Amino acid sequence: MPVPALSLPTVAVVGGGPAGLMAAETLRAAGCEVDLFEAKGSVGRKFLIAGKGGLNLTHSDPPERFRERYGARRDAVGGWLRAFDAQALREWAAGLGVGTFVGSSGRVFPDDLKAAPLLRGWVRRLRESGVRFHVHHRWTGWDAGHALRFETPDGEKRVEAAAAVLALGGASWPQLGSDGAWVPWLREAGIEVASLRPANCGFNVGWSAHFAARHAGAPLKPVVLHWRDGAGRARSLQGEFVLTATGIEGSAVYAIAADLREAIERDGEATLALDLVPGRDAARLARELARPRGKRSLGEHLRRSAGIAGARAGLLRELCPQDTLQDPARLAAAAKALPLRLLRPRPVAEAISTAGGIALEALTPELMLRARPGCFAAGEMLDWEAPTGGYLLTACFASGRIAAQGALAYLRESASRAARA
Ligand SMILES: Cc1cc2nc3c(=O)[nH]c(=O)nc-3n(C[C@H](O)[C@H](O)[C@H](O)COP(=O)(O)OP(=O)(O)OC[C@H]3O[C@@H](n4cnc5c(N)ncnc54)[C@H](O)[C@@H]3O)c2cc1C
Repeated sequence: MPVPALSLPTVAVVGGGPAGLMAAETLRAAGCEVDLFEAKGSVGRKFLIAGKGGLNLTHSDPPERFRERYGARRDAVGGWLRAFDAQALREWAAGLGVGTFVGSSGRVFPDDLKAAPLLRGWVRRLRESGVRFHVHHRWTGWDAGHALRFETPDGEKRVEAAAAVLALGGASWPQLGSDGAWVPWLREAGIEVASLRPANCGFNVGWSAHFAARHAGAPLKPVVLHWRDGAGRARSLQGEFVLTATGIEGSAVYAIAADLREAIERDGEATLALDLVPGRDAARLARELARPRGKRSLGEHLRRSAGIAGARAGLLRELCPQDTLQDPARLAAAAKALPLRLLRPRPVAEAISTAGGIALEALTPELMLRARPGCFAAGEMLDWEAPTGGYLLTACFASGRIAAQGALAYLRESASRAARA
């Protein structure tokens, strides 16, 4: 909808990640004065780190499947995506001179796989358009009125803005700026915030010291993971993960981390069944392992007769009782469905992203805090989660745009109310 020719007042955007930058861009394009406040000395630090592994901007899933990635929040996030979807994101990147391609997994990456050129070009364009950046400005809540309070190198500052967009991120990788310190401040202001929890995270297993010393860092690929989802349905996924000193992490684990975390919250632990030999069916494997072993050690027998070696053989030794290891039929069954007990998720600070955050019920559909008219919120600080695959960034960008559009509508409404009075 075109913005009526009003002289729009200043909007404060707090947090310079993808959500905040997108909000700033949308507000400025509509003619607002925009001040962007960032706690760190530069914006977009997590976005830059996301680029280290080959920035996965979005995904080529069809819209229906894309929405499903947001689980219980599919309807709300789906609404944001109607305003700014994967295709819009790719066109937006192209507008910054960054082409994108669809990888073999369906994931979408910038042509050069990097985040830095995209971020540099974006920040330059924002500055040129007139967005004012204030780095080393750490928001610490509201004062007794509605002013935003900031810690700065020059002492505390208060900012009165006609509207504000908070985009402070979650609590993963706090060294990059998003530390979740805002949770109590929002709760004190009467805003419902679900506890921040790890998403796309590793899990603790409690390996023996011997196993951890020998196999930490070993990748397992391919492997099939069997587990039960929140509704108790049997699910399975083929993929890869890595053994760590404390447990497991990696893409296949992240993809199912929400179900595993919830099982641990509900039952105190979660169990995965690992198929260590996806290429061989159980009957063939049992036949192979039943071949006479002679004087060969178990490790040698596993390797020669069934191709099970290294970390896979190590897992069988670590997790199977002696009588299973000595019985070919039971050993074959274990190799096809090895129970792995997960004790707890790794801390949120290590996770790729954060579950929990501002309850969507505490927000209007335009992402305004019901308890704080004129204050909007976007990005990972809201209570939704998704697996890796570009779904995180896409929802952050889209919600930044929705919050900014909400702020614009709020300002227009306030201006016309003032004009009528
Ligand atoms: C290692 C890693 C790899 C990732 N790879 C991908 C990927 O390939 N694809 C994908 O879709 N997602 C990926 N993600 C997730 C993605 O980066 C985040 O979901 C996204 O950056 C969140 O955007 P945001 O704007 O909501 O928050 P953030 O990017 O966290 O930005 C929030 C900003 O707010 C600032 N801030 C926080 N508190 C305050 C305060 N009190 N005052 C002022 N400023 C404050 C922070 O310093 C930060 O700059 C990855 C994450 C990690 C950690």
